[in-house]
Amino acid sequence: MRPAGPGRPARPARPQQVATVLASTRISEHLVRLTLGGPGLDGFEPKDVTDQYVKFLFADPALGLTPPYDLDAIRAQHGSEGVPVRRTYSVRAVRRSEAGTEIDVDFVVHGEDGLAGPWAAAAVPGDVACFSGPGGKYAPEPGAWHLLAGDEAALPAIAAALEGMGPGERGVAVLDVAGPGDRLDLAAPAGVELRWVERGGAWTPASSRLEEAVRAVELPENLAGVRAFVHGERETMKSLRAYLVGERGLERSQLSLSAYWAYGRAEDTFQAEKREPIGKIFPEDA
Ligand SMILES: Cc1cc2nc3c(=O)[nH]c(=O)nc-3n(C[C@H](O)[C@H](O)[C@H](O)COP(=O)(O)OP(=O)(O)OC[C@H]3O[C@@H](n4cnc5c(N)ncnc54)[C@H](O)[C@@H]3O)c2cc1C
Repeated sequence: MRPAGPGRPARPARPQQVATVLASTRISEHLVRLTLGGPGLDGFEPKDVTDQYVKFLFADPALGLTPPYDLDAIRAQHGSEGVPVRRTYSVRAVRRSEAGTEIDVDFVVHGEDGLAGPWAAAAVPGDVACFSGPGGKYAPEPGAWHLLAGDEAALPAIAAALEGMGPGERGVAVLDVAGPGDRLDLAAPAGVELRWVERGGAWTPASSRLEEAVRAVELPENLAGVRAFVHGERETMKSLRAYLVGERGLERSQLSLSAYWAYGRAEDTFQAEKREPIGKIFPEDA
């Protein structure tokens, strides 16, 4: 248990799964899919949503720790700097059979910076991955008009949402990617148009074309029927919240809209900033 602090009740440690990398597949220029499995996934309980996500734990190799991690014991022995660092990833697919559970996770390979991206790019079968979760709460509402939008980090969750839709669903999915080598062959209902927009390179505030492409989507006249799943870089998410809520008048309840990462921030800082004004996507939360 996490110790109770002033104003903070003790909360049970989140259970961890210790999985083995079964396969690594480059599914596009900047996405690597790791298939994880092994007996450590027997306790994995998938959620009935399309945006389920897990939090990988990366321990400092110098500490020689073996997962699952006793976070309180690590904190007591090595201080908070020794506690494994968390990185959040969508679960692209879950396969359950008598032989066990396998999951696919698609990692953006965004360069040398960071922990999870470089780790995934170098992972080979037999490597061990430890994570907690899943969390998540979005699933496409049948019969809605769907707006899906995001950059590569949201592509796995958008792909899972499209795959989870019935054949009669309608809408538009806007996918902001580096270039033509990042397009995926997505399974989507015929009535959901896929619009790939290419930045022509790495994501920067200047290269992203997501906002412009979402603004170009013609929403249906009956705005009440719209449901949006919009995720990606933080500042773009703020702009899209301002557009969808402020300019178009959508209700917050019609949106699943959040930041998945922030330009120039490692996830630790990005998560910590959620408690500060800069990290709030909806001003009323500030
Ligand atoms: C609910 C949820 C689901 C997510 N699902 C996925 C997923 O399925 N696949 C996925 O790849 N990511 C996903 N993300 C985003 C992922 O958690 C972040 O991109 C994370 O920062 C990556 O960790 P890292 O160790 O590679 O880089 P960090 O150490 O966190 O960051 C290092 C540097 O890389 C930059 N950076 C981080 N991510 C990106 C990126 N995507 N593109 C360009 N630069 C980046 C940072 O701004 C920073 O400058 C998800 C996030 C959330 C909250």
